[in-house]
Amino acid sequence: MSAYCIWFTGLSGAGKTTLSRLLSEELATRGLPVERLDGDIMRACLCKDLGFSREDRETNLRRLGLVAHLLTRNGVTCLVAAISPLAAIRELNRKLNGKFIEVYCNSSLDALIKRDVKGLYRKALAGEIPAFTGVSEPYEAPATPEIEVHTDAQSVEQSLAQILDYLENNGVAPKPDQHPRLAKPSEEEFFARLVELGFASNPKR
Ligand code: ADP
Repeated sequence: MSAYCIWFTGLSGAGKTTLSRLLSEELATRGLPVERLDGDIMRACLCKDLGFSREDRETNLRRLGLVAHLLTRNGVTCLVAAISPLAAIRELNRKLNGKFIEVYCNSSLDALIKRDVKGLYRKALAGEIPAFTGVSEPYEAPATPEIEVHTDAQSVEQSLAQILDYLENNGVAPKPDQHPRLAKPSEEEFFARLVELGFASNPKR
């Protein structure tokens, strides 16, 4: 089974972290070598030096795409969860990775403002966060994503099932009964170790 880069894109709060985490855990238990690159976490370590200018966002996404490629070419399925507002950079990463699946976490801005899980929309609408995607910066929605989940209308379980369905039907993920279920150390432990050794600070945004 060849390794894919599965790229979650969508506005802040649209469900990229939630779904990529659950998917990563599920794929790992099905015996697939899998790593997850979360935009918020990567901004606290690998991309610590970058801000939110157009140029820095582009560099951030190029770095994530490159790391994903280093993993996938060695057989590790890589899940990237990052707003990734720029269509051209997503396309560049598609070209670099070749085996690429775009998962568009689509939610209306109204629903996100209502949900506001991280309290960021309140701050952004009050002008306290400059260049906030969807509020004061554009988000270029994917035109033809392989998977589009409507996270303002579906439950987490429904969205996850839709993604798994696509992956199983397209030979990206084994069906659950084809592999013994395996356990993997938690991401929290791994990230805490990075912080302890000074490779990362705690993610802010
Ligand atoms: P993002 O990583 O895109 O910023 P998060 O995953 O951190 O978003 O937050 C999404 C929030 O929306 C979570 O609180 C999650 O429980 C909730 N949610 C509700 N429905 C869905 C769904 N169908 N898919 C993903 N998240 C959902």
